[in-house]
Amino acid sequence: MIPFLFTLLVLFGGFTGFRLMQKKALHRRLLTSPLTEEQRRIVADQVPLTKQLPPQIAPKLEGKINLFLHQTEIIGCAGLEVTEPMRLSIAAQACLLIANSDAWYKSLRTILVYPGAFKSRQTSHDGFIVNETSEIRLGESWAFGPVVLSWPHSAQGGLDEKDGQNLVLHEFAHQLDNLSGSTNAVPLLSKGQSFAEWERVMLDAFARHEDNVAKGRKTVIDAYGAENHQEFFAVIIEAFFEKPAKLQAEEPDVYAQLSKLLHLDPVNWG
Ligand SMILES: [Zn+2]
Repeated sequence: MIPFLFTLLVLFGGFTGFRLMQKKALHRRLLTSPLTEEQRRIVADQVPLTKQLPPQIAPKLEGKINLFLHQTEIIGCAGLEVTEPMRLSIAAQACLLIANSDAWYKSLRTILVYPGAFKSRQTSHDGFIVNETSEIRLGESWAFGPVVLSWPHSAQGGLDEKDGQNLVLHEFAHQLDNLSGSTNAVPLLSKGQSFAEWERVMLDAFARHEDNVAKGRKTVIDAYGAENHQEFFAVIIEAFFEKPAKLQAEEPDVYAQLSKLLHLDPVNWG
C-alpha cells in the first residue's frame, strides 16, 4: 500500500510540476510576444503616452499587455459591452505603470467596467451595529483585486496624456502599492532603494502637500492626495507620468524616488 501511495504522490507531484512549467512557459511567451499591428495602432490611438516610451521599453510594454489580457477578465457592468479597444486601453495604461519594473499584478483576475460613475457600497461594523454607506465613485481598487473603473473616465485619462489626471494609473498605483501586502504608500521598493530614504522623502512631501492644500495653494500634485498617504502615492504617480517636468521641478526628490521605483524617466521621453 505504501509503495502505491508513494507512486501516486510522485505522479501527482510530477503532474503539478509539469503544469507549473507549462504555465511559466506560456507567460514567458506572452511577455516576449509583440502586439499585432492592429492592436499596436489601437494602443497608440487610445493611450498616446505609450508612443513616447524609449525603444528598449516599448516591447516590454507590449509583452505585459499580452499577459495582462490573458490573466484578467474585463467585465462590462450595467449594460456596458466591453470592446477590444476598451480592453487594450485599460491594459496599456495599467501596464505602462510597470512597463520597466519587475512588479506584476499577480493576484488580479477581474476588472469591472461601468458606463459611468457607479455606486459603491461599504459596510463597517461597530460592535453589533452594521453600518452601510454608499458613495458615487469613478474608480475603486480592492486589495488583491478587483479593480472597478468608469469607462468614459478611463478612456479620457488615456487620451489626454498631459492634464495630470489618469484614473487607470491612479487605481493601478493602489494595486502596485498593495503588492507589498498592504496598501500603505510603501510599495515593494527596487533593489538598492532605501526604505529610510523613501519614507523621509514621502513624509516630507506629504506634509508640504497637506499644508499647500490647507492654504489653497495649487501645485502639480492633485489636492485629493492630502486625504491620506495611499491617495498621495496614487496622485503623485499620475503627475509622474502626465506632468513629469513639473513634478521634477516642484518635488525633485519625489520624482527621483518614483523614477528609481519604476525604472522610468518620463521627463526624457518623446
Ligand atoms: Zn485612490
